[in-house]
Amino acid sequence: MNDEPAENISGGDAGGGTVAEFTPGDAGTRAEEVVDRLGELYWRKTYGGQDAFECLVRTVLSQNTSDKASQPAHDALMDRYGSRDGEDLAEALAAAPREELADTIASAGLYNQKSRTLIALAARIVDEFGGEDAFDAFVRESDPAEVREALLEMNGVGPKTADCVMLFAGGRGGVFPVDTHVHRIARRMGLAPADADHETVREHLERDVPAAKCGFGHTAMIQFGREYCTARDPACLEGPEACPLADRCDRVGVYPETGEVVDPAAAPEADGG
Ligand code: SF4
Repeated sequence: MNDEPAENISGGDAGGGTVAEFTPGDAGTRAEEVVDRLGELYWRKTYGGQDAFECLVRTVLSQNTSDKASQPAHDALMDRYGSRDGEDLAEALAAAPREELADTIASAGLYNQKSRTLIALAARIVDEFGGEDAFDAFVRESDPAEVREALLEMNGVGPKTADCVMLFAGGRGGVFPVDTHVHRIARRMGLAPADADHETVREHLERDVPAAKCGFGHTAMIQFGREYCTARDPACLEGPEACPLADRCDRVGVYPETGEVVDPAAAPEADGG
């Protein structure tokens, strides 16, 4: 079994959470079976326990870039604003000079836009909640639908960011954030309709995967998308034995005979359903 990568959206080993007991072998759906098989390949973990505002910062920094690029930006931001006496991170960021913050997070790309988003989010957390601790308590303890709605109302926070905060900070079971890897793999494998948008894929996975396995399923599927089921060169093009999940996959839009790969929504077999 492979260890959890130190650099990923969950924060790796330093990101909190507890090792989960899985009971593979009695999966009720194919999606659960896939997650169980990922549990044989990778680390198994139930997420939660991250600081909510820091988690928000991490996901904003990771938008439209790789973890490899956003991790140094996150570390630099925490070094500069994260350890000031008597001031919490939200207060420090709300007061940060924009150009200085943009400079600090330059490695994450889109740093002008991201610095504006972060300062506005920090100011909102301070104004509405009084600081990061109260925001943290809100994310952990309030009704999940209310938390999701409040997060989505914030500028710069889309469904994936909101779901990541609910999962990694709130420790909410049953949240399966859908990023580009999850969106592609679930439709290729036939776990969701070929033409499903992000929200529809999320609904299918959250319906079919037990709540306690959703967080692990999200991070493991991303890792699987990087290692095996990549966008342009899925492992099975070399033959089914090259992919550990080939026997559970419909391969929608992937044609090992010709080497062709298309988005599942554009695959002829997607017609009619
Ligand atoms: S069989 Fe191919 S399309 Fe299916 S999960 Fe594996 S690499 Fe992806």
